[in-house]
Amino acid sequence: MSAIKLPALATVLMLSVQLSAQKKQSVTTPYLKEIQQLATLKSVQAAFTAIDQLEPTTQRELIELTEIPAPPFQEARRAVIFKQLLQDAGADNVWIDSVGNVLAIRKGKKATKTVALDAHLDTVFPEGTDVNVKHKGDTLYAPGIGDDTRGLVTILAVLKALEKARIETSEDVLFVASVGEEGLGDLRGAKYLFKKNDVKIDSWISVDGEEIKDITNGALGSVRYKVTIKGPGGHSWSAFGLGNPHHALGKAIDAFAEEAATFTSTPGGRTSFNVGRIGGGTSINAIPFESWMEVDMRSESPDRLKQIETIFTTSVTKALERYNATVKRGTPLTMTLEKIGYRPSGLTSDTNSLVQKAMAAVRYFNHEPTLNVVSTNANVPISLGIPAITIGPGGRAGNAHALNEYYLNENGAEGIKFTLLTLLLEAGVAK
Ligand SMILES: [Zn+2]
Repeated sequence: MSAIKLPALATVLMLSVQLSAQKKQSVTTPYLKEIQQLATLKSVQAAFTAIDQLEPTTQRELIELTEIPAPPFQEARRAVIFKQLLQDAGADNVWIDSVGNVLAIRKGKKATKTVALDAHLDTVFPEGTDVNVKHKGDTLYAPGIGDDTRGLVTILAVLKALEKARIETSEDVLFVASVGEEGLGDLRGAKYLFKKNDVKIDSWISVDGEEIKDITNGALGSVRYKVTIKGPGGHSWSAFGLGNPHHALGKAIDAFAEEAATFTSTPGGRTSFNVGRIGGGTSINAIPFESWMEVDMRSESPDRLKQIETIFTTSVTKALERYNATVKRGTPLTMTLEKIGYRPSGLTSDTNSLVQKAMAAVRYFNHEPTLNVVSTNANVPISLGIPAITIGPGGRAGNAHALNEYYLNENGAEGIKFTLLTLLLEAGVAK
């Protein structure tokens, strides 16, 4: 009996924890009113009709783009096709920048600000992955179909709807199909845009995710390192006593994990650490000449990200010093710390007008908005203090980053209309 009762109680407890975590977000009345007015404009209604009519084309383009491989650092083929699609859709000025981002400006009437609408070109899947779309009923299966090819066709459909409904925005809209969002791409497309500053961007909306209710306003930051410890190496018996890089790496991991565990258990913003890969060595009976590890650290808080990075660098450095002090023969071991990834963290406040507008748009479609902390292209502008969010393109998507990734166009048009409304609230409709 108790065995049955216990899980039931646990379920109730878990449910109440989940419910309390999803507190109702407050959306201020002016934005709710503004969205009602906006959505009833004739031109916006015409854009909605255009989105509905475009649905078969949008689905076809989703399949076509998904089937053009875009592994990390190899987005160029997809970029060229997407550039053509933006041109065909009527963008004024389309170009590919030197890092590989596809950019299109649609001029506004006032043009005092630029609002960027972004989706990413790259997928996590390596060269040679089968990206052909397989149909099972109405569900489409292919690596990358949801993340983020669905985002690409969403921003394209938004542009087409603006053109078809002849909507002139007040502000300039910059359409962005970015490179390098995933993995070791390390947000290089978005980083380049803000560093190069060819176009000054005043606010940023990434379309990357699934459900429209999930708005990302928090940037989950990360810092990644590869640590390599080197020594002379030699025979396990005859050269015994030489510094052993694996032994030293073990001590470095232990020292870091212990200090990092203490730090991450203190309050002040969720922070994590992970030694993900270790390697090196020649043979069971050889003292290795090299030992390496890859380490990932993440935090919601910029300060805590810096702090755990310092804990990491000092703990492994000291661990090696301690180890070297015990080495009886040969030269001391050396260590290099190579930073292989950095995604800045930060937050666009839930009271910021861009977040409020997106939440009002979610409410317009009768969903309850939730605010999330995720690592996306929006990390870059958020860390620079530029209002930025990431929104979901709608439909039903799942298994992102897995070979059985899928997309089902259930209510997909709603996601495109939601993206359009969020953009128009931010960029304004010219009178
Ligand atoms: Zn993505």
